[in-house]
Order: sequence, then C-alpha cells, then structure tokens
Amino acid sequence: MSKLLSLLFPRKCSLCGTPMADAGEYDALCPDCMLKYSMLCEEKCSHCGQRQKYCRCEKIDGAEISLHLFEFSSELSRNIIYTLKRRNDKYLQNFLARQLAGEIVNTLKEESCGEKFTISFVPRNPASVRDFGFDQSKLVAEKIAALTDMRCAGLFVHAKNTKTQKEISAKDRKDNASNSYSAKNGVGATGTLVIVDDVTTSGSTLSRCASLAKEIGAEKVMAVAVAMTPKKTGW
Ligand SMILES: [Zn+2]
Ligand SMILES: [Zn+2]
Repeated sequence: MSKLLSLLFPRKCSLCGTPMADAGEYDALCPDCMLKYSMLCEEKCSHCGQRQKYCRCEKIDGAEISLHLFEFSSELSRNIIYTLKRRNDKYLQNFLARQLAGEIVNTLKEESCGEKFTISFVPRNPASVRDFGFDQSKLVAEKIAALTDMRCAGLFVHAKNTKTQKEISAKDRKDNASNSYSAKNGVGATGTLVIVDDVTTSGSTLSRCASLAKEIGAEKVMAVAVAMTPKKTGW
C-alpha cells in the first residue's frame, strides 16, 4: 500500500522539490540540500567562533540555557524557515524536531538540568494561525516531546493580539513582546522547561515566555530556536 502511495504521490525534497526515493518519516531534504544543511549547521559563529550547535551567544533573559540549529541569514536558512512557517510540511517538522531533540537531550545532560523536563512553545500569533491553518512551533514541540518522552504543554497565550512582529519596529518589539504573551490561566511548571520557537529576532519573545515560565514555577528554562538572527552590531 505504501509502495502504491509513493508511486502516486512521490516524496519531494521540502526545500527544492527534487523527487526523493526511499525517504523515511524523518527525511525532508534531498542529498544535495542535506549536504548544504550540514554545512549550514557547521558554520562557525562570527562572534564566538564556535560551531552553531555550541554557540551560546544569544543570551535570552530569564533562560539559563539557549540553543539553536543555525543562523537565520543565508538563503538556505531563510528557505527552511519560510517553508516551516508557510507550509504545513510534516516531514520538515519531523526532520527539524529530530535535529533539535538530539541537541536538547545532549544539552540537558551537559547542564545537569535535573530529571523533570517539560516542553512548551511560543504560540503563533492567532491571526497567522487563521491564515496558515497551523502553529509550526507547537507542531515541532509536540514532535520533540514524542521523540524524547517529554510532556508537551501549551502554557502561553497571546494576551493581546495587535500586529505581527514584522509590522513593528525593532524599537517597539520588546514592549510588544512583553505585552502580547501571558501564561494560561491555572497552568504551572516544575523542573526544567524547554521553550521552542522557530526563529528568534530580538530574543524578546523567548525572554518574555522564559520569565512567565519562572513565574509559574519553572526552576530552569532552556530557550530553543530552529534559527537565530545574528546580531549586526554591538557584538
Ligand atoms: Zn533539495
Ligand atoms: Zn556564538
């Protein structure tokens, strides 16, 4: 049956559309894109010189640990993030979830984060959920939870939905992020909370969710993003 389905609907690379033979549940990229992806993750951070997975340059206020897979700057990185945001592509979500799950598990061990872990996510703006029909960070977080045996909990909501982040100047972004998220009524957290976002811009959204996490009882916060926007000046 799956053979027939794959004949009728051949799997294609999530990024370039090249047909892929024998693609598994966690495969999303063709060999060519996969090679480029590996190189993207191996790129050294321009600030600390570490490879992306060891770079901890992005200080998220309120989070003890932060990690990301790659910088949000090259064409490939933009292609990945835009596809993640615009297309409800199960295979790309699976792929990124597995990439992140490995890094999260390793980092939780290294940083001796205790034994109680929960995973949550930065919820998508409700207007965008209406437009696109899905919440990519939630889907990726749920898949990471399934891969790591963590519990996934939706803890945060948009308190006020005004404008999308893009429509707001960088100057106002921090204030907007502070105003636009709150913890859901009655939720609590214990131990280490892993908060997943797709791409960080100023870091203020993850910071806001990290401080909310502390308010509802989390002891430690790990802020996780698929991609981090490199800071241009002041490094
Ligand atoms: Zn490809
Ligand atoms: Zn760095």
